[in-house]
Amino acid sequence: ATPMSIMTATGRGAQAGVLIKDAQALERFAKVDTLIVDKTGTLTEGRPKLTDILTAEGTTEADLLGLAASLEQGSEHPLAEAIVEGAKERGATLLATTEFQAITGKGVAGLVDGRRIALGNQAMMVDLEVDVRILAKQADALRTEGKTAMYVAIGGIVAVADPIKATTKEAILALRESGLRIIMATGDNELTAKAVASKLGIDEVRAGVLPEDKKALIDQLHAGGAKVAMAGDGVNDAPALAAAEVGIAMGTGADVAVESAGITLVKGDLNGIVRARTLAQATIRNIK
Ligand code: ADP
Ligand code: MG
Repeated sequence: ATPMSIMTATGRGAQAGVLIKDAQALERFAKVDTLIVDKTGTLTEGRPKLTDILTAEGTTEADLLGLAASLEQGSEHPLAEAIVEGAKERGATLLATTEFQAITGKGVAGLVDGRRIALGNQAMMVDLEVDVRILAKQADALRTEGKTAMYVAIGGIVAVADPIKATTKEAILALRESGLRIIMATGDNELTAKAVASKLGIDEVRAGVLPEDKKALIDQLHAGGAKVAMAGDGVNDAPALAAAEVGIAMGTGADVAVESAGITLVKGDLNGIVRARTLAQATIRNIK
């Protein structure tokens, strides 16, 4: 390996779209043995598209989609944007929502045109005591395809698909080959998470993880002696990014994620992690 100072390393990183905050981040990253990756927006593009609308008896597709999208107008979640966009493309009429509530990691609820609507995952429906048993099979079938299926509590399902970034597969392969233990952590459902993980050859998956649990996962790994890097993009990921030895933020993600991170991948290309690792190890060898 060529001798390399920290300044040279950070300079080379910057050229490749990898911003390294300081010498500490670089030194710590050379020693990391475990990488936790968020799914949505990190492994995937984070720009999901509406793919499926299923209705239970007594509800029309137009009604379901109109109500779901009206409600999601109040949310900034990428899933919400997909539903609103998809509904507009399909010519749905959006109505005003009152008493809007967003429940982190679960979904949204409110009053649309005087009707009480909730939209979200299984956990959300459990909280609201909505029985979704008749829809569960269809939801699971969509999840097995890697889609995110959400229940609409007037009787139906909306599903979105979030494509894996073109660069992710090769990056994950290289990181695995470099000996890193890779764990996917996501708030998404287990079936969806596993479908995405298996496409990428990731065999450790923690699904249904609430934002505070991502940090707890790091604490747990630390207790076992692991040195952990965490890659994420969301507001939700910031505490975990700060708790890890090295936080890696997507430059395409939330500002607080970038602020909490030691390394930022300007374009969100995970090959930047491979690059940073090579630079970090070359620098460490030079310092010793
Ligand atoms: P991730 O960790 O994959 O980025 P989140 O923690 O943001 O995911 O969300 C977890 C799950 O909560 C989503 O997969 C979805 O089922 C549900 N959810 C969160 N926000 C919304 C919303 N605005 N509308 C519908 N469902 C939502
Ligand atoms: Mg995310």
